[in-house]
Amino acid sequence: MKHNIITVLTLTTLVLCGVIFLETDFLWFVLGAILFIYLGVTAYGSYQIQANYFINSVNRGKKKSVALTFDDGPDPEFTPKILDILSEKNVKATFFVIGKKAEKYPDLIRRIADEGHIVANHSYSHHYLIALFSTSRLAADLKKCNDVLTGLVGKTPVFFRPPFGVTNPFYSSAIKQNGLISVGWSLRSMDTRAQSKYALIDAVISKLKKGDIVLLHDRLSVTAEALPDIIEHINTKKFAIEPLSAVINKDAYVKD
Ligand SMILES: [Zn+2]
Repeated sequence: MKHNIITVLTLTTLVLCGVIFLETDFLWFVLGAILFIYLGVTAYGSYQIQANYFINSVNRGKKKSVALTFDDGPDPEFTPKILDILSEKNVKATFFVIGKKAEKYPDLIRRIADEGHIVANHSYSHHYLIALFSTSRLAADLKKCNDVLTGLVGKTPVFFRPPFGVTNPFYSSAIKQNGLISVGWSLRSMDTRAQSKYALIDAVISKLKKGDIVLLHDRLSVTAEALPDIIEHINTKKFAIEPLSAVINKDAYVKD
């Protein structure tokens, strides 16, 4: 974890500068500046899952293919629409679902799995303060999600995506305890803020590179509207769209 290295380096620098600047008027300014930079790096690390600052996440694949991933479902209105489009285009995707929504809409989870897509863990609660949960509360939340999903699809998910992409030191042990692999993304579509389907299509297609893990949400009408064109454009670029397990070469479920 880069966080541990940065913390040790910061403490060492604080002590060294404390000695060097002890007799000067700059002492508190220098120490304050070091702490300010440390806090800035830590905040950046928790919001940038690709930085692998607190935990190691898989953020892209090494193949020419790309993976489409949908967060925050299942949604009674848009998940079926997205599944219809994927089926029509013969594309397999990955759904990072919220456990409490899975409990509410179990048939959608079964449909996702039955149609050959991957069901993955996006926490049970998706609580807006989940980043402040203790390790044990966080581990219990992730386990509860996996228990619900295992009950519905008969297999235990391995892939986990931290809600909001925010990570902290508690995640590494909660993830390990549950045998999960943290998966981030390499291409954030920003569909949650897209002004139109055309803006969303452009945001994905203009930046798409091989091995990309594309972050989308199956709770938005704009995502469902843009999806057929996104898939067509990816096909034109001659990139295969594969399930996440194929793109990152890891099993999506615990082996029996
Ligand atoms: Zn989410």
